[in-house]
Amino acid sequence: MSQPPYIGRFAPSPTGPLHAGSLVAALASWLDARAHGGQWQVRIEDIDTPRCVPGASDTILQQLATCGLLPDAAPVYQSQRGTLYQQALEQLTRQGLAYPCGCTRQDIAAALAISGHSRERHAELIYPGTCRSGLNGKPARAWRFLASPEGQSANVTWTDRRLGTQTQTVSDQVGDFVLRRADGLWAYQLAVVVDDAAQGITDVVRGEDLADNTARQILLQRALGLPTPRYLHTPLVLATNGEKLSKQNGAQALLTSNSQAVLAALNAAAACLNLPAASGTPSEALAQWTQPWAAQWALKSSGERFHHSTA
Ligand code: GLU
Repeated sequence: MSQPPYIGRFAPSPTGPLHAGSLVAALASWLDARAHGGQWQVRIEDIDTPRCVPGASDTILQQLATCGLLPDAAPVYQSQRGTLYQQALEQLTRQGLAYPCGCTRQDIAAALAISGHSRERHAELIYPGTCRSGLNGKPARAWRFLASPEGQSANVTWTDRRLGTQTQTVSDQVGDFVLRRADGLWAYQLAVVVDDAAQGITDVVRGEDLADNTARQILLQRALGLPTPRYLHTPLVLATNGEKLSKQNGAQALLTSNSQAVLAALNAAAACLNLPAASGTPSEALAQWTQPWAAQWALKSSGERFHHSTA
């Protein structure tokens, strides 16, 4: 049986230039595609407009090119794909799996206080489901995904190529998450699922900080009848304070002013991925890592590709 084609992607949010942390995800996703004879695409995730920095997407594409990381297709911009997200929301709504929510943050806090079950996750209150049965005269603000139709708990088990078996009870640990925000913007979870399927992505390789989103994305894939890609979450580069390196804790924009700086940045990213130091031009360095990457991250048979289970 022939293997399905491999299509991978790097999906940066243009909130600033590439830095040492985002380069790790870019390099890993590129190497995985190359090592498996696949295609590599870039998707600019520019839907959270208040967080986007003007010019950052062009800067990122230039930085990638300087590193020798050239996409095999024209980059896709999420800001131009609202129609697809709208169609997906309408499909979920028809299926009874999405509902409008009229609650403000204060409403949610008040409902949780009354129920005596106030719970938070990553500083977000877990939605108590107030609007599941209707808006009760309130205007619709956001749209939410019904994580546990008919009150069944939504338990998702999936396998990460590096982290192994992962389990999350989305209905309990996350709750009915947002698909369209109160400010009218599309939520990352919906956009990423729609786009990964529309672009035929077979393999998602991204930073470990995003692993926690995967169960939600798998629930949405199932609800929309879309395939589930394979997942590989890469190690994070940590800032001196021990947090994930980000612009907020001092990540420096990648230096691409000369080839020595580019090689140093690529070597630092490669070291984080357990690859040996390489030399030469960026493209020569990339070529030296393809084989070691392939040896480290062989793909399981295609039979496992779309496997996921509910427990
Ligand atoms: N846009 C997300 C970020 O830059 C990555 C999304 C993904 O790879 O699924 O953190």
